[in-house]
Amino acid sequence: MITTHPFDDDKLREECGLFGIYGHPDAAAHTALGLHALQHRGQEAAGIVTTDGVHFHSHHSMGQVGDNFASEAVINRLRGRLAIGHVRYSTTGETILRNVQPLYADFEFGGFAIGHNGNLTNALTLRKELVAKGCLFQSTTDTEIINHLMAMAHGDVVDRLTEALHEVEGAYSLVGVARDKIIGVRDPLGVRPLVLGRLEGAHIVTSETCALDIIGAQFLREVEPGELVVLDAAGIHSFHPFPKMRQRFCIFELIYFARPDSIVEGTAVYQARKRIGAELARESHCPADVVVPVPDSGVPAAIGYAAEAKVPFELGIIRNHYVGRTFIEPTDHIRHLGVRLKHNANISSLKGKRVVMVDDSIVRGTTSKKIVEMVRRAGATEVHMRISSPPTTHSCFYGIDTPERQKLLAYQYDVAGMAKFIGVDSLAFVSIDGLYRAMGLPGRDPRAPRFCDACFTGDYPTPLTDSAEGGAPTQLSLLETA
Ligand code: SF4
Repeated sequence: MITTHPFDDDKLREECGLFGIYGHPDAAAHTALGLHALQHRGQEAAGIVTTDGVHFHSHHSMGQVGDNFASEAVINRLRGRLAIGHVRYSTTGETILRNVQPLYADFEFGGFAIGHNGNLTNALTLRKELVAKGCLFQSTTDTEIINHLMAMAHGDVVDRLTEALHEVEGAYSLVGVARDKIIGVRDPLGVRPLVLGRLEGAHIVTSETCALDIIGAQFLREVEPGELVVLDAAGIHSFHPFPKMRQRFCIFELIYFARPDSIVEGTAVYQARKRIGAELARESHCPADVVVPVPDSGVPAAIGYAAEAKVPFELGIIRNHYVGRTFIEPTDHIRHLGVRLKHNANISSLKGKRVVMVDDSIVRGTTSKKIVEMVRRAGATEVHMRISSPPTTHSCFYGIDTPERQKLLAYQYDVAGMAKFIGVDSLAFVSIDGLYRAMGLPGRDPRAPRFCDACFTGDYPTPLTDSAEGGAPTQLSLLETA
């Protein structure tokens, strides 16, 4: 067996999802359910750490949540009313169990486990400094740097975590568990999401609201950029220990990463995607008979596009949801079929039609090319591709798995060249201003952009101390990101 992504190698991937709960008798079971709802944020490994106030209990495993945390034996062993959990997708190298989070460490004040969504852009520098001071690293994740910085800091767990985070650059949303509290933190730019919820007197901190929905919890509010929240016996405590900065939430969360049924940044993700589709239609519609989404991620934008363009929406491509991410090593012939294992053309809605195909992004272009071929073979007379994001011209250094910049199709070609590569009659992307308009803003203010949009603009909101702009994040050769 191999664990790989042979049939979906053309999507950016979110790398982590977080869940933490304070004060529930079924803390572990609720955490497992929360992680299940966040499975789209990372499918390769999952972990849960709980505490009963005296001892810590943990279970980490490779694979998906449902395969590893559904058993009563596992959940019963994870005792206690406090729990945190993490799902991850690793970016480079072998995915190994010692990198699976939450990462636990013993401190003078007691045990503490931490889970991280994001990527520290000065991780390599910090790691070298820490190793020079004698720190022994157990994992190759950038997250462990926070543990070592905490060990050298002073005060209680909150003081130490705060002191450690003053050293790091980049993007992080974190959940942590100590014996008597759950901690949630969002970096000062607020690049990755983090929300608060409540269930029967228990308090929750998690990446997306869909993880609250699955356990019937109430959404309270977002953790603010730069805010540290402590959930304990007295409720929720809020701290703002970092200098205030202009928010730069990852706009790709709204385009693709977050689940469409989530609310992030005060925005219903599904509605935002429909609005982007409508903008796209206003900017670049061409005569067509049907609007067809590339499922599943292209569906909301295609609905918005079709409504705006007044062209029938059709499911012209059907996705097989039962293609696992783990697949028996195929022969070359089977591997070549790749895209057809996941997508199939629905001839009845394509034959003889001028098709507008809507997708959320083009990364390498390999999957798009195969889907276009499939749609043409099904009898489409014209294929026009419309993309609900601007061209992805730059790599992400903030926790999204992106190929080296040189491998991005939009880095290699202009739009006409990309259209030729994927074999369409026309290709258009939503403009960066159109994207901002869909978010309710007049357009992108280049002096003060509201979002991180660096993979479209190259305008990175933090220093890239250890990352090579124009290439892959250099630390990824040594470190795995969370
Ligand atoms: Fe999101 Fe792109 Fe910024 Fe990465 S570079 S955080 S994917 S907007």
